[in-house]
Amino acid sequence: MIIVKAAAVTLVVGSLVWVEDPEVTWIDGEVVEVNGDQIKVLCTSGKTVVVKASNVYPKDAEVPSCGVDDMTKLAYLHEPGVLQNLKSRYDMNEIYTYTGNILIAVNPFRRLPHLYDSHMMAQYKGAAFGELSPHPFAVADAAYRLMINEGISQSILVSGESGAGKTESTKCLMRYLAYMGGRAVAEGRSVEQQVLESNPVLEAFGNAKTVRNNNSSRFGKFVEIQFDQRGRISGAAIRTYLLERSRVCQVSDPERNYHCFYMLCAAPPEDIQRFKLGNPRTFHYLNQSNCFELDGIDDAKEYVATRRAMDVVGISSEEQDAIFRVVAAILHLGNVEFAKGKEMDSSVPKDEKSWFHLRIVAELLMCDVKALEDSLCKRVIVTRDETITKWLDPEAAALSRDALAKIVYSRLFDWLVDKINSSIGQDPDSKSLIGVLDIYGFESFKTNSFEQFCINLTNEKLQQHFNQHVFKMEQEEYTKEEIDWSYIEFVDNQDVLDLIEKKPGGIIALLDEACMFPRSTHETFAQKLYQTFKNHKRFTKPKLSRSDFTICHYAGDVTYQTELFLDKNKDYVVAEHQQLLGASKCSFVASLFPPLAEESSKSSKFSSIGSRFKQQLQALLETLSSTEPHYIRCVKPNNLLKPAIFENKSVLQQLRCGGVMEAIRISCAGYPTRKPFDEFLDRFGILASEVLDGSSEEVTACKRLLEKVGLEGYQLSLRQGIIGSTLDSILVPITGIAAALLEIYLLSSKSCIGKTKVFLRAGQMADLDGRRSEVL
Ligand code: ADP
Ligand code: MG
Repeated sequence: MIIVKAAAVTLVVGSLVWVEDPEVTWIDGEVVEVNGDQIKVLCTSGKTVVVKASNVYPKDAEVPSCGVDDMTKLAYLHEPGVLQNLKSRYDMNEIYTYTGNILIAVNPFRRLPHLYDSHMMAQYKGAAFGELSPHPFAVADAAYRLMINEGISQSILVSGESGAGKTESTKCLMRYLAYMGGRAVAEGRSVEQQVLESNPVLEAFGNAKTVRNNNSSRFGKFVEIQFDQRGRISGAAIRTYLLERSRVCQVSDPERNYHCFYMLCAAPPEDIQRFKLGNPRTFHYLNQSNCFELDGIDDAKEYVATRRAMDVVGISSEEQDAIFRVVAAILHLGNVEFAKGKEMDSSVPKDEKSWFHLRIVAELLMCDVKALEDSLCKRVIVTRDETITKWLDPEAAALSRDALAKIVYSRLFDWLVDKINSSIGQDPDSKSLIGVLDIYGFESFKTNSFEQFCINLTNEKLQQHFNQHVFKMEQEEYTKEEIDWSYIEFVDNQDVLDLIEKKPGGIIALLDEACMFPRSTHETFAQKLYQTFKNHKRFTKPKLSRSDFTICHYAGDVTYQTELFLDKNKDYVVAEHQQLLGASKCSFVASLFPPLAEESSKSSKFSSIGSRFKQQLQALLETLSSTEPHYIRCVKPNNLLKPAIFENKSVLQQLRCGGVMEAIRISCAGYPTRKPFDEFLDRFGILASEVLDGSSEEVTACKRLLEKVGLEGYQLSLRQGIIGSTLDSILVPITGIAAALLEIYLLSSKSCIGKTKVFLRAGQMADLDGRRSEVL
């Protein structure tokens, strides 16, 4: 094993460098004084700072102003360099950049239609990866070709925070795959058309305006596209995860409820009449927020478009009517208010207006109005010897109403997904598939509840998958080649996963226990957590809190508020609601509430959302593990959702959370820097001019030059902290991760001379530049 601790980069007066800056994270400047370890830098902002040499990164003056399309082409692969590259590309509307084979996509927040037209798709068809500008089409094309040529299933994992552009990227991938795998003649409703049109349908019912994104998906989605032997799309399956239910009855300003509610309120007059609708401002489930319209969106048009998309995915017009009837019923249900009744602690619909809406709900859901009232205001408790009817007070009745609205909506959403799946159809003979995952990124807000907990569990799982793929695979490869290699700072997050999902004893298991115990509260649950994980490295109890807990996630610490954990984890249909709707005269409504098996209606009053989600994730990861993954990391350049603003700080944070910096770090351990022979000689020939005698080939000249400067062979020195303080030292592997490294002659693997390029380790370019500036 060869561990080489590196010294600081050679810096002289006049060197161009990056120094840390509290405002913009990194700022460039010129060294004006070198005093041992202290470096004085005149920044481009005009400020002069004195910093330690080890905190200074060299700046490559020769990066073209438009940046480079692959981070691995940067001479200096460090944080400021990566950031600068993304920014200069973004400024020129180059929103896509590779890091090896990861695609980084920075949301342009403006339409760039030329980037996605059919002419573009034709260009990417069959083009070698990396030959054309970075693009989701290139990723999809690479996946498609690998699938065809190698017969291996593929997956494309799109991640990023809300509003970063995941869903747009996913749609772009799906369009390309439909283009590649579609039939030449469009015959009516083709499979690929159905796959594409499932998007607007699911968006109408599962997307909403939030502060982070005007069209935010409130569910996770994995679309599995199946292909036949000839590479034609032959089926598809959509799996969805954790639709946000609370939004149906609770919206905070300036957000909106699900799009479908507003669309329906803007429907043509005959539908408005049928569903007894009106101004969205008159509905409690919508008017808790002041936002009703969206810039640039015409809800009336969206209504028609959604219905058309429903036609394509095979939802009949009778079914569509029933669906919108249910949506309308939910709106009316929200307007039913309760007042104290005659009996103690009882409740009744508050006034004539409430009765009016209640009657409409009964009419739309085709159920008995008295039974509906009872299901909202009363609970029947059946014991061994008697049946007791208990009244609900007005507050409890309102909660009962909201629970009904939420369960109906979530059943409706699941019905849509099932329907789309069954009408597109699965291909049982499919040999291979391409899965596309569009799922919420890591979240850390001021208050974090059960949803953030589940979302962050997802991200821990995906991060582990990513690490395993990028890192463990590499390591296996090195082991196979009998090469000494170990990656110092590889962080495994198995301990966080155990903390959350270990059975028994993990947080989810303890939460389920608490939910089954009638007397538990969020406080007893929190106490239990504190006791159990007192000494867990990844768990802490915040000092001033009695019921919060903090998990140290791979992407940072998140403090969760347990207040609603128990409620949100419980998934059960109130028996009265089940009976009411199961008996609906509308077969569609009744089908949303199929009779429970005798057994389960008694025993499992409670089923756990957390545990079910955990199982779904497990299944997802099993699917992903059987595929070859491709990664797209979406980045949101600013929180104003506006074009042309690039906020360094937030971008850097996202790159870290998304594992991009990690991937760069890993590739730094290989040969991240590469230069074609001629460029290398042009730049560094001055260090050993005798090699440029013109008699030898370029490759020989490069070899001799490397020998001259002491960089030949196996023991190459590495820079300390070139990518941040975590990279202390690194062992020297033979090959790096990027596909381009295949260019290296395997047999002469001790050399860093490729077929056409010189491959350098992280920091060496900086070193050579330093020497060059000494000579100049
Ligand atoms: P996410 O799914 O990550 O939450 P979206 O994909 O919904 O984010 O993107 C949020 C918004 O950003 C979109 O509605 C669109 O306005 C804009 N956007 C995202 N990607 C692009 C793109 N490639 N071109 C143009 N606009 C985009
Ligand atoms: Mg989305």
